[in-house]
Amino acid sequence: MVEIIKIEIVTGFSCNNNCLFCSVGDKLRSFDKTTKEVLDDIDRAVLEKPEEINFTGGEPTIRRDILELVSYTKNKGIREIRVTTNGRMFSYDKFTEMMVNSGLTGAIFSVHCPDAKLHDSLSGVGGSFEQTMKGLKNLHSYDKTIDINTVITSKTYKFLPETMEMIKDYIRSVCLIFPTIDGHIKENKFLIPRMKDVEKYIHKAIDILKDAGKQGWTLNYPVCFMKGYEEFSSMTELQTKMFWPHMDTNLDEKRKGDNILVNACKDCRYRLVCIGVMKGYVDVMGDKEIKPVKGEIVKDPREVYG
Ligand code: SF4
Repeated sequence: MVEIIKIEIVTGFSCNNNCLFCSVGDKLRSFDKTTKEVLDDIDRAVLEKPEEINFTGGEPTIRRDILELVSYTKNKGIREIRVTTNGRMFSYDKFTEMMVNSGLTGAIFSVHCPDAKLHDSLSGVGGSFEQTMKGLKNLHSYDKTIDINTVITSKTYKFLPETMEMIKDYIRSVCLIFPTIDGHIKENKFLIPRMKDVEKYIHKAIDILKDAGKQGWTLNYPVCFMKGYEEFSSMTELQTKMFWPHMDTNLDEKRKGDNILVNACKDCRYRLVCIGVMKGYVDVMGDKEIKPVKGEIVKDPREVYG
C-alpha cells in the first residue's frame, strides 16, 4: 500500500478561463461543491494525515469561500496548503495578501506559453496572460513556493524553452504535462501534439530548468522519448489522492487504468516499470512513433532515478 502524501480536493468545475485544451468537459463546468461539502472533504482529508492539501478545480480561487477553506485547513494543522490555479485572481494585490494571511503556503500555476496573444486565444479570455503573470509575481513576492503546470499543445510546444526562461526565476519546479485526451481537447484535436515532435523541446526545457537550479519533470509522457533525460520522467508513484464530487481516486491507480502498453513495449527494457501510453492518445494518434528502448530490463524505477 503506497503512502498518500498529498490530497487534492476538487472544489468544483466553474472557471474564469475557458481553455481549448481543458480536460473538463462543458457539461461539468457549472458544478461546484457547497462550502459544507468542501469542509467535510477537508475533515476527511485530515484523517489521512497528508503533508499537503491542495484545492483544485475548475478554478478554486473564484469561490467566495476560498479564504474560509484555506484558514479552516490551516487550523487543522496541515503543513502545506496550496491551490492549483490559472493565477488570475492573484493579480489582485489584496486577494493575494488575504490568501497568504489565511494560511496559503504556495500554489501551482498554469502557464502554457510566453506569448500573450497565443495564451489568450488558448485560454479563451483576453488579458488572462497578463493577469496570470502578474499573479505569479505577486505571490512570489511573499516568498511562497510556486510550482508550474505547463500543458503541452501543438501550438505551444516549440515555445517550451522560452516559457521556461520566462518563469524560471519565480518558481521551484515545472511539470511538463502531455495533455490527457478528455474534455475540450476532444473537440479540438488539432491541439494534440505528436509525442515524437515535442521530444527535443522537452529536453531543452529541462536543461534550462536544471541550469537555473530548478526542477523539471514530465507527466503522461513515456520514458522512451526521454533518452538521456530518463530521471525526469514520472515513473514513480505520485502518492496523491483526489476527492472528486461523489468519489475519491488514487492518482497512481487511475494512471494505470488510463494507460496501456502497446506492441512495441514488449521488446522494451522499461516494460516492467513504465506507466505506458495514454489510451486516449493512441486512439487518436496511433502508436507508430512508440519505439522500444533496447537494453537490460529495468525492474525497479529506482534504477532510473539512482
Ligand atoms: S514500455 Fe512502451 S511506452 Fe514504456 S518506454 Fe517502453 S516502449 Fe515506451
